[in-house]
Amino acid sequence: MLDQMKQTGRWDSLKLQWKSGDPNPPHRFWDSDIAKWLEAACYILTLQPDPSLAAQVDEAVDNIRNAQHEDGYINTYYTVVEPGKRWTNLSWSHELYDAGHLFEAALAHNLYCQSRRLLDPLLKYIRYIDSVFGLREGHKAGYPGHQELELALLKGYEQIGDKSLLVLANYFLEERGQPRPQGHYFDVEAEARGEAPNPGPSPKGAPKYSYHQADRRVRDMESIEGHSVRAMYWLTAVSNLARVTKDESLLEAAERLWDSTTKRKMYVTGGLGGMSEWEGFGPDYVLPNETGYLETCAAIGLVFFAYQMLLIDPRRTEYADILERTLYNAVLVGVSLDGKRFFYENPLATVGKLYERSAWFDCSCCPPNVARLIATLGKYVFTVGADDTIYVHLYISCTAELTISGGKRITIVQQCNEPWNGGAKISINGPDAHRMKFSLRKPLGAEDFKVYSEGINISSLELNGRVETYMTGGILTVDFAYSARAISPHPLVLDNRGCIAFMRGPFVYCAETIDNPQIKDLRAIRIIPGRTPREFVEKREFSEWGLDPIVLKVDAIILEDGVRKEDEVTLIPVCLWANRARSDLRVWLPSLLPDEGLA
Ligand SMILES: [Zn+2]
Repeated sequence: MLDQMKQTGRWDSLKLQWKSGDPNPPHRFWDSDIAKWLEAACYILTLQPDPSLAAQVDEAVDNIRNAQHEDGYINTYYTVVEPGKRWTNLSWSHELYDAGHLFEAALAHNLYCQSRRLLDPLLKYIRYIDSVFGLREGHKAGYPGHQELELALLKGYEQIGDKSLLVLANYFLEERGQPRPQGHYFDVEAEARGEAPNPGPSPKGAPKYSYHQADRRVRDMESIEGHSVRAMYWLTAVSNLARVTKDESLLEAAERLWDSTTKRKMYVTGGLGGMSEWEGFGPDYVLPNETGYLETCAAIGLVFFAYQMLLIDPRRTEYADILERTLYNAVLVGVSLDGKRFFYENPLATVGKLYERSAWFDCSCCPPNVARLIATLGKYVFTVGADDTIYVHLYISCTAELTISGGKRITIVQQCNEPWNGGAKISINGPDAHRMKFSLRKPLGAEDFKVYSEGINISSLELNGRVETYMTGGILTVDFAYSARAISPHPLVLDNRGCIAFMRGPFVYCAETIDNPQIKDLRAIRIIPGRTPREFVEKREFSEWGLDPIVLKVDAIILEDGVRKEDEVTLIPVCLWANRARSDLRVWLPSLLPDEGLA
C-alpha cells in the first residue's frame, strides 16, 4: 500500500511541489488516503515495533507538518491545484473529509508514541476550522459534503477531553439539513461560485441533497437514503453524539436510522448500497445481486455505526450481531487473502468473470480503510460497561488490557477455536479477577451455547442472547457449535424470491465457479429443497494462506444445455472468493421448482 501511495504521487504530493501544467495533479481526497494509511500504521506500531514502518510514519508526519499554512490550514489540493478557493465547494470538495481523516491520524499517532508532534498541528487546524464555520456573525453556516470530520471530532473529544471538539461536532451535526431563509447552504455556495447547484445523483422525486443526507434534519429523517459511505460515517457520529450528550431525540433518530439501514436496506452479508448510480441506498428491500454496489467502505462504516450503537446499549445483541456479520463477510471480502489486493464493489452475484481485486484504485478510499479497521480490530472484542461489566462481543483469540473504574488495568486472555469452529476459554489476571462481571454474547448462528464457570454449566442464565455471570474461578469456558443453515430471503426482496442462501456461524457462503467446474454458468444451479448440506474441511485449496476452511456441499439440479442433471455444488465463505483465479460467485441460489427443467 505504501508503494502504491508513492508510485501514484500521493506520498510526495504533501511536499506541495506540484505546479499548474505539471502532470498528475493531486486529487481532492489524496490527503485522506495518506491519513488513513498513517492511522493504520500508527495502530500497527502500538501492537508491534517496526523500525522501518516507524521511519515512514515520521516522514509522513513531517510532510503533513510542513504542508500546514500559517493559519493552520492543511490541504494539498487547495494549496497547489486550486489556491484561493478554500471552502468554496463543501458539497463536493472533500475538504472537511480530508481534515477529519488527518485528525484521526493525529489521534492514532498520539496514542502510538504519546507525542503531540502531529496532534498539536491538527488541533491548530481544527481551531482554524472552528473560526470559519458556525452560526456566529461572519462565519460560514456550512458543513461537510462528505461526512467524516464529525466522527473524528467526537473521537478526539473522547480521547483527549477537549470540549471544543464536541461543540464543533455538535454544530456540524445539528446544522446539517436545517432549513434556512437564505436557502440550502450547498445552493448558496454554488451560487457564490457562479455555478448551478449540483445535488448529486438520486432516485426520481428524491429531495435535493438527499444524496448527502442533507435534505432535512436528522431528527426528521425516517429512512436512510443517498450515498452509503457518507451515511454510515454520519450515523456513526450521530450515535456517538447521542451517547455523549444523552440527547433522547437524537438517540431515537439513531435507532430509527439503524433500523432503516439494517432491517430494510442491508444485504445478507452486511453489505450496503444497492444502487450503483449513486453508490448508495435504493428503496426499502430493493437489493439487486448482480448490480449492487456494496462498497467496502460502506461495510466498514456500518461496523463503526454498530460499534457506537453497541456502546449505547451493549446488552442489545443485534448491534454486535450486525457488527460480526458485516466484519466477517462484507468487510473481509474487500481484501485478498495475501492482503495486497482489494475490491471496491462487492456484488453478491457476478456473471462473466469480470471481477478481480485490484492493487489500487484511482479513488482509493477502500484499501487504507480496510487496513485501519484490521489494525483496530481489538476494540470490537470486549467493551467495559459503566458498572465495569465486561461485555464479550466477539470470540477472537487475543490478549486484551482493559481499563475499569478507578483507572485499574486488567488483562484478559481469550483463546478461541474460531473462526470455523465455536468455543472459547476466557481467563483473567489481576487482583480484581474474582469480582468481575461478564456478559457473554451468543454468536451469530451458534448452537448449544453453554457457559461454564468452575466447571458448572450456567447457561440457564441466558437472557436475550447473553449470559451474564461473575467470574469466580479465574476462567470462563464458552462452548458452542456451528452447523450449516439455509437462509430464506425477506419476502419483499423480490430479487431473491424462491432463492436460499447458506450460512455457517457468522459466515455467508457462495458458489464460486472455480469450485464447480462442471457448471458452465452458476445461474443454472437449482438447489433441491430440504436436503441437508454436508460439511468438509478443505485442506488443499487455501493452504498457501494457512487456512483450512469448512466448505459445504449441497444437492442441486443443474439445468444446462436442455439437460436436467443432479449434481453436488460446492460452497465456500464469501470472504474467500476470488483468491484463486478470475471467477464468478453467487450467494442467493434458486430453489428447484417442482416441474422445472422437465419440458
Ligand atoms: Zn471506499
